[in-house]
Amino acid sequence: MSMAVETTLILCKPDAVSRGLVGEIVSRLERRGYVIVAMHMMQLDGERARRHYQEHDGKPFFADLVSFITSGPLVALAVEGEGTIEGCRQLIGATDPLRAAPGSVRADFAQTIGRNLVHASDSPASAKRELEIFFKDSDYMSRRHDLERWIKG
Ligand code: UDP
Ligand code: MG
Repeated sequence: MSMAVETTLILCKPDAVSRGLVGEIVSRLERRGYVIVAMHMMQLDGERARRHYQEHDGKPFFADLVSFITSGPLVALAVEGEGTIEGCRQLIGATDPLRAAPGSVRADFAQTIGRNLVHASDSPASAKRELEIFFKDSDYMSRRHDLERWIKG
């Protein structure tokens, strides 16, 4: 098994849940071969939302972002795979859907930066910090055998 197996946090944000796009997003992750090791539908309170987005505290869009991410249920996933942190960033596309690569989730389904459907951790440090906000150790399923089918060779 490679040393570059990583776990990252994906959020299907409230707009994705509301628009019925959770299945579409999860399907893209699964088809890429990423393995879901934890999954949870929940509605964030303000405190947890501000903690998740702490690096944006003080920016002009912060209040709207917290208000939106707490506005309804979201689906949080812990996703495991080879290089999955960078791979999931690719799969979701650039923050602004107008800049997102064609074929990415944000390019295919979103119009604006404020309703861009999905979150993915942007670095190993972010992934570690963010996963701790959403999941506890006992939430994780071991799926190493499933993962190995995708990443050998
Ligand atoms: N955001 C926004 N306006 C901005 C920048 C960001 O509404 O000018 C929102 C957007 O929904 C984004 C989130 O804040 O997904 C977090 O911003 P970040 O730069 O971390 O983008 P991401 O990592 O989600 O691509
Ligand atoms: Mg970010």
